Amino acid sequence: MAAAVRASGAGTVVISCSDPRLNPYQVFGVDPSIKGLTMVRNAGGRALDSVRTISALQAIGNPRTVIVMHHTDCGMIHYNDEAIRKALLEFAPQEKATIEASKYGEITGSPGTRIIGVKYDLNSGVCTQVLEGIAGTKL
Ligand SMILES: [Zn+2]
Repeated sequence: MAAAVRASGAGTVVISCSDPRLNPYQVFGVDPSIKGLTMVRNAGGRALDSVRTISALQAIGNPRTVIVMHHTDCGMIHYNDEAIRKALLEFAPQEKATIEASKYGEITGSPGTRIIGVKYDLNSGVCTQVLEGIAGTKL
């Protein structure tokens, strides 16, 4: 996997969880300064949350590989949308409409972009490929 990331450096996007125990650069053994390698991190490593960034990158640089990296013991396993909305409404009830309408659509068609899903085990340090396909095709 690390060799694939290094080899395809230009035009590769890694979507991963923002958990500080997970360091995708270290996992893949790549230099953070490598050109064309972009990290997009968010709670749970959710692709849906990355749509705006991925869309902009498709328009600007047309990345040819997208890697979605999840990990064991992810904090987001313990939460669901309803629980998050409930907690957010307690903090910011004035934003009720925005919080309740927090849907971001779906990623549609990026023909030719290779998508790779990987799972990183925090305990063993092993990164396993779990999915691979081409955007716009059934996996
Ligand atoms: Zn996580």
